[in-house]
Amino acid sequence: MANRLNWIQEELDTLQQAGLYNRIRTIGSPQGAWLVVDGKKSLNFCSNNYLGFANHPRLLKAAQEAINRYGIGPAAVRSIAGTMEVHLELERRMAAFKKVDAAITFQSGFCANLAVIPALVGKEDVIFSDELNHASIIDGARLSGAKIIRFAHADPASLEQVIKEAAGTYRRALIVTDGVFSMDGDVAPLDKIYAIAENYDILLMVDDAHGEGVLGTGGRGIVDHFHLHGKVDIEVGTMSKAFGVMGGVVAGKPVIVDWLRQRGRPFLFSSAVTPPDAAACIAALDVLEESTELVDRLWDNARYFKAEMKNLGFDTGVSTTPITPIMLGEALLAQQFSRSLFENGVFAMALGFPTVPKGKARIRVMISAAHSRDDLDKGLEIFRKVGRELGVIQ
Ligand SMILES: *Cc1c(COP(=O)(O)O)cnc(C)c1O
Repeated sequence: MANRLNWIQEELDTLQQAGLYNRIRTIGSPQGAWLVVDGKKSLNFCSNNYLGFANHPRLLKAAQEAINRYGIGPAAVRSIAGTMEVHLELERRMAAFKKVDAAITFQSGFCANLAVIPALVGKEDVIFSDELNHASIIDGARLSGAKIIRFAHADPASLEQVIKEAAGTYRRALIVTDGVFSMDGDVAPLDKIYAIAENYDILLMVDDAHGEGVLGTGGRGIVDHFHLHGKVDIEVGTMSKAFGVMGGVVAGKPVIVDWLRQRGRPFLFSSAVTPPDAAACIAALDVLEESTELVDRLWDNARYFKAEMKNLGFDTGVSTTPITPIMLGEALLAQQFSRSLFENGVFAMALGFPTVPKGKARIRVMISAAHSRDDLDKGLEIFRKVGRELGVIQ
């Protein structure tokens, strides 16, 4: 191997030795409560398919019909070659679902953050950012060139303190926070953060990727959960989690959406999601607007699983959502735990540094409405077995 590549192999070896090398398993089936993983039937505790939409008959049918009507690809960026009706319909429907006046969709939640942050702030500005914000927020913030000032996780007092300290040093400011923090499953105190944003007249943005389809009435998200309609300036969401498809969204005031159609770089320089993707997202909205049944089942399942895991003696951290971390500490133990679960038929990934802080490695269980009570009981039984074998519980 050429010398100039040696450092990469050394880095990879270091990751392996530390138990931090991520071996990606291969899925050979549609998403659902059960998967074929590396050729083996496994109970799925990994995916963000909160509502079972990734293989829902209504979404599949909508996608197939969209292929017949629009074909498979958008063939160019929307701002240059025209935008398909299906993307505009999705945006209208999404705005109505979120009870805002406008929405714009992107290729992913990641792209939405890369689009919106640099469009709103630049070199003369500051971003007040929760220290545990998602990587795509961090990257969007860096791309903007604005000064990034972190505040303590989910801590309004810390936010207010850094705002006071930065007074007079900037042109514009933006407060940005995850809605649901995906590694711990806790929820940002958006009501208190909003009060501060309002008081200091600062733009407020929430990234509700894990709240979309999960929090609020019928899955309308964190703004609905806190009854802050019309008050949060920018609500970012994703259609790749509970919506089971692919795509990102920014919902808010028409002036912001209009600006993003002119200045959101992933919108201007990258093609849109495919027509069947957009149509499937519309079908997800149909299902969500018809009934809260799936969202209710998701929460029932989550409450049951979490309570039973606590009864078994596991530390499920600070989660208040269907995201259920099983705190284990060392990355090597978490990896061993995940491997043993897999040998016993449960697919649940270990998360270590840099996804979570050092010493806070864990297994993260993602609960879904697609799980039956029987599935959850099977999972609990296997967690008990592996937990005892590895000395995590008594
Ligand atoms: C998953 C996630 C994203 C990325 O969403 P994609 O649609 O998968 O790109 C962005 N922000 C947060 C907070 C997320 O959890």
